[in-house]
Amino acid sequence: FDYTKASFKDFENIPNMDIFERAKAHEGYLDYLRENEFMNYRLLATSGCGPEIDMEENGYIKQGSYISFVCNDYLGFTQHPEIKKAVIASIEKYGTGAGASPLIGGYFDYHRDLENKLSDFFKKPRGSAIAYTTGYTSNSASLLCLLKKEDIAIVDMSVHASVYEGVLGTTTKRFPHNDVVALERILAHSKDAYRTKMVIVDGVYSQDGDIAPLKEIVELTHKYGGVVLVDDAHGIGVLGETGRGAMEYFDVMDKVDIITGTFSKTFGNIGGYVIANNPHIISYLQFQSRQYAFSASSSPAIAGVTRAIELIDEEPKWQKMLWDNINYYKSGLQQIGLDVGTSSSAIIPVKIGDVTKNSEAGKLLLENGIYTNPIMYPAVSLKDSRIRMSLMATHTKEQLDKALNVYEYINKKLGITASASYISEA
Ligand code: PMP
Repeated sequence: FDYTKASFKDFENIPNMDIFERAKAHEGYLDYLRENEFMNYRLLATSGCGPEIDMEENGYIKQGSYISFVCNDYLGFTQHPEIKKAVIASIEKYGTGAGASPLIGGYFDYHRDLENKLSDFFKKPRGSAIAYTTGYTSNSASLLCLLKKEDIAIVDMSVHASVYEGVLGTTTKRFPHNDVVALERILAHSKDAYRTKMVIVDGVYSQDGDIAPLKEIVELTHKYGGVVLVDDAHGIGVLGETGRGAMEYFDVMDKVDIITGTFSKTFGNIGGYVIANNPHIISYLQFQSRQYAFSASSSPAIAGVTRAIELIDEEPKWQKMLWDNINYYKSGLQQIGLDVGTSSSAIIPVKIGDVTKNSEAGKLLLENGIYTNPIMYPAVSLKDSRIRMSLMATHTKEQLDKALNVYEYINKKLGITASASYISEA
């Protein structure tokens, strides 16, 4: 193996290697990353999710406290006292686990209350929501259940891995990111040839933080007799007048046929959901979606999500504080001359382009107390290497200023601005 040219993806499958040989080759790659100080994955935190986080020494980083931009806890709800209280009260009442899958004894009133709260939040009739145990399965499991090879999934090429897994058994066409002209071409071409035509997009994209043009997407899809699924994992709590995500932002809440999302970001917990305009889809998933029907339901801690949903309406100040931080930080980065791409959400990339400079920047940020995620191939294309950051309502201006100062220093040292302008020309 030439580890200098490898990526994690290369170890997914290797012809003629059994699982032990393949795992050994992979271990060699991990050793190569460790030896060359590229091992910026699975860093160990020793305090809770938040704008400042304690980290354990691991050879790549020093032990200490870091200003963190890695939590997708946009409103700071993992640490909200009211939500913690709701979780503790629920655990006191119900214990720590649900004990069974939902069809055979694992369906409790705290699940029903959460599903009702979700239906209400998305302004749908009760019975329009189903809660999965992860955001990942709310996509992968529901799609595996709904779509088969006689159907077509038309997906934006930047959708999350969980969508790609969900459509593995379905005829799938990808269209270039946010390109509605290409989408229309595929829709027109596939007219009537498939039982169900489903267009699948994210509300907010997880690497660039940009938004899907949902109005056009919904109109086009319906014009050609398709249905639209929007995964708004990163939009809820962030976009829209009242935090109801990209659907509210574009005023298409009633037109999006299926919404999926997660409890692990704005709602500060773990799990995910599917909301459908057609309630039969929900009961179909309840009985036919294998990862739902044959897997234990979420723990009583999920009551924290029910409280979090209420708090989005009761305490709009968090969304305002978040946007205040987004605007402040983004313009600070731009003033330094850095390229934040098309970000219009709480996800802010600093595009660097050059892979070596990108990992060097990630390391220098850490050395100066700033914890971010350097993102490289295969998560994005090679020339699209970037530092990815998530903003939180609870970041202080002092923390943001400190990060901006470090960026200014790194930009002088590495010449990030120069390499980024090279990308936009490429
Ligand atoms: N959808 C998108 C767009 C995501 O970014 C993610 C994960 N970050 C998921 C779904 C999966 O959600 P979870 O991590 O809660 O399983």
